[in-house]
Formats: sequence, structure tokens, C-alpha cells
Amino acid sequence: MLGIFLISIYGCSLSLDRASKNLTDYKMEIILNEDYSLDANMQICYYNNSESALSSIYFNLYPSAFRNESQQEVISLSSFDKCYYNGTCYGSIDVFEVYDDSGLNLNFEISGDDENILIVYLQKAVEPESYIQFNIDFTVIIPNINHRFGYGESTINLGNFFPIACVYENGKWVEIEYSSYGDPFYSEVANYYVEITYPKSLILASTGKETVSSEAGNKKISVLKAKAVRDFAIVLSEKFKVLTTVTDKVKIYYYYYDDELAGESLTTCKKAIEAYSEMFGKYPYEEVKVVQSNFVHGGMEYPNIVLISDDIDDYQTYTHVILHELAHQWWYGVVGNNQTEHAWLDEGLTEFSCALFYEKHPEFNVAMDDLIDKANSSYQVFKAIYEDVLGDINTSINRSLNNFSTEPEYYNLVYVRGFLLMSSVNDLIGSKKFIKCLKNYYSNYAFKIATPENFIGVFEKTIMKDLEEFFNSWLNGKVIEF
Ligand SMILES: [Zn+2]
Repeated sequence: MLGIFLISIYGCSLSLDRASKNLTDYKMEIILNEDYSLDANMQICYYNNSESALSSIYFNLYPSAFRNESQQEVISLSSFDKCYYNGTCYGSIDVFEVYDDSGLNLNFEISGDDENILIVYLQKAVEPESYIQFNIDFTVIIPNINHRFGYGESTINLGNFFPIACVYENGKWVEIEYSSYGDPFYSEVANYYVEITYPKSLILASTGKETVSSEAGNKKISVLKAKAVRDFAIVLSEKFKVLTTVTDKVKIYYYYYDDELAGESLTTCKKAIEAYSEMFGKYPYEEVKVVQSNFVHGGMEYPNIVLISDDIDDYQTYTHVILHELAHQWWYGVVGNNQTEHAWLDEGLTEFSCALFYEKHPEFNVAMDDLIDKANSSYQVFKAIYEDVLGDINTSINRSLNNFSTEPEYYNLVYVRGFLLMSSVNDLIGSKKFIKCLKNYYSNYAFKIATPENFIGVFEKTIMKDLEEFFNSWLNGKVIEF
């Protein structure tokens, strides 16, 4: 049984056409106005992949976190000035009409703990394995901030800017609240068709592929298409210069405006896509864009497009952020997980993927042992300080974002300890088997959502050993400290 299972997964490569069947379709027409607002119409064809008939559909309204009265934190105090570099500024999303294709209005409600959820009430429940189609008209105000949703001195970042269907699991809709740390997003793969009108002076980079581009007066119109992606993001700038290269039928774009080593950066992107494809499984999309941008943190991943902050001082860190964000194309992009509940699953694995990259590429002068030493000492310093202040600390990694009390706690447990967890599994089973497990994890859960149990299950099945206690000791904070 096990043998047949392994043969079958190695026998097939990821097909986008196959993956794009029975998914929700988002069709958007967007106008980006000169005053940094969006007028948008979204026609959604929602596919019910649950086992229940659904009489309403829930959407996350992430931009609501940026409004004036928001109770959700979008930035921690320590990063506030860097984010709000031009003073306090608010953004918003305003849904003003929901209607079916015959023009009949559907009832809707702005709900959730902090107006972060849109509920659309259907005329007739949508049955399992069926579609329901309706339209949402909405406007968005983009705040003047250095954030994934915001505009700064050089770029307009449109991340998480539209109503996106909540995940329906275990009989309920998963409502996400924004968090100042982590990536507080959770969605399923879907197909996108986006037509965006914007000032002609801007150069656009996005998820998917630009299929048509035309000009009308001082405006440009781009048609963007993406199959089986987890989200859709757009970045625009007047300053972009673009370098491109191709590897194994994947076109790699590097959009930048302040990088003296742009050619080297593009080479790093290429090596990353090649190395991760070889180690984990082929990158299934036609294009990937690495985009320099105004961003308060180091970088941010979206399907087919990653943001790299223009405010990183040293080039080695800049390179590392590129490697990290591109590894997310595999862990978050293709294989999804609930990033608010189990952030370690994609972040820990992504950080360790960078270490595996460096092992393949000694010319970057980053040794695995040094990374492990650095992670250990960073964690020990964090632990000593916290124990000093609090007397005791909770060292469990597997917590939801709102159960971490500070950003350093989140960082040290999810990234650093998440990395150390992966490194200790690698030590335990050896890197050959470790990579084999990651290959199986990737092919088994491509375009799906994986849970920690799924991840551990793949390792147990692949190496045929019970690893539950080993993982639990790490995840629940009971591992013996060194
Ligand atoms: Zn990350």
C-alpha cells in the first residue's frame, strides 16, 4: 500500500489546469484613481467544496483593519514610526452593493468582531460541489503607509485589498482578525481574472500573468490572469526598472529602483527557484516576480509575487529576504496552511529551506552550522530576558497569533525555534530523507491546506517511524533545553 502510494505521487507532476478545476473564480474590474482609491466590481463564482449546503458566504475584509476606528493592530509600537512615516493615515474598504447576475440585490452584513467580515446572504443555499455567482461593488482607500497594503514614496502595494472568501472548515467559517505581527491571512486557492485601469506613468507587477495591456489617454489597462493561486496582489511604481531571466520555463522578473547589485539579485532569484524546484518539486506557475517596495518589514510573500523592503541595510540580509520569500512560494503559496493558527508550519519550514539552499550554494558563504549556532544563541538570549522579566515563559510554538504576547516572542518561537525544530528533524533522520519527506509533503498537499498533523504524518509515512512524541515536545514547549 505504501509503495503504490509513493509511486503514484512521484509519477505525476503538478498540473495547473487540473488544479484550477472546481475552484472559486474571482473576476475583478478595478480602477486605481489618482487619489489612491480603488473603485472595484468583483464577480465571484463561489465553489462550495464543503460537505454542507451554505446559505451565506463569508469574506475577510482585511483593509478594515486600517480604518480609523479599528480595534485590530496593523503594526507594533516599535515599527509604528517607520510604517506611518508621513504621520497617521487611515485606509478602508466599503462594500456598497451585492447583487446577482440579474441585478437582484442580495442582503449583506458587515460583521465579525471588528467589522472585519462581510456576510453575503444567498437567495438559495449553494449545495456541495456546486457554484453560486454574484457581484460585490466596493471601494478601497489605500493608506499612505509603508505596509503591504499602503503606498509610500516609491510603490503602491495592493496586498489583501479585496474581499476574499473565508475558509469554511469543520462546519464553520474561519474569521481572521489582523495582527501586527505574522501574516494574518488564510485562504484557499482560486482562479483570478483581473482588469485594472491605472495611471499610464505606473509600471505594474502582480500575481499571475499580464495577458493584455492597452492605453487610453493617460491611463493604462492591464488584464491579469492567474490559475490556482491562494491570493492576488499587485504592486505599482513609476520608478521600476525590470530585469528578467528564464529557467525551466519559469519567467523570473526582478522589479527594483534602488539596487546597485540588481544583476546579482536576479541571479539569486534564479538560483532559488532552481534549487527549491529541485529539492521540493517543480514551481508550477509560469511567472514569478520579485519586487522591491516600501515595506516596514523585511519582505512579504504573495502567490507569484514577493515584496522585498527597500530599507534593508546590508546586502546579505537583502539576499536572505529574497530566498526566504521565494521559499514561501512552496510553503504558503502552493501548500497552504492556517497562518494565524500554525505560523511555524510555513515560517519554520521556509527559514530552514533557506539553510538547505545555502548548503547547495556555498558561494553565498552561509554555513548551516553557523545558522544553527546563531538561532540557538538568539533563542537563549530571548529566553534569558523573558525568564528574567516574567519568571517563566511559555515555549510552545504551536499557538495562534493572538496567543503570542509580543513581537519578539512571536519571532523567537515561530521563526527561530521553528527553524531549530526543522533542523533537529533533519539531524534525526538525515538530510536525504528530510528532503524526500518535503517532496512528499509538497506533492500530497499542493493547492490544498495542510495541518501540523498532515506534516508530521508525511514524515512518519515516509520514514516509517513514529515521530509524534518528538514533534510534540517541540511544538508544546516540552523539549529539553540545551
Ligand atoms: Zn516568512
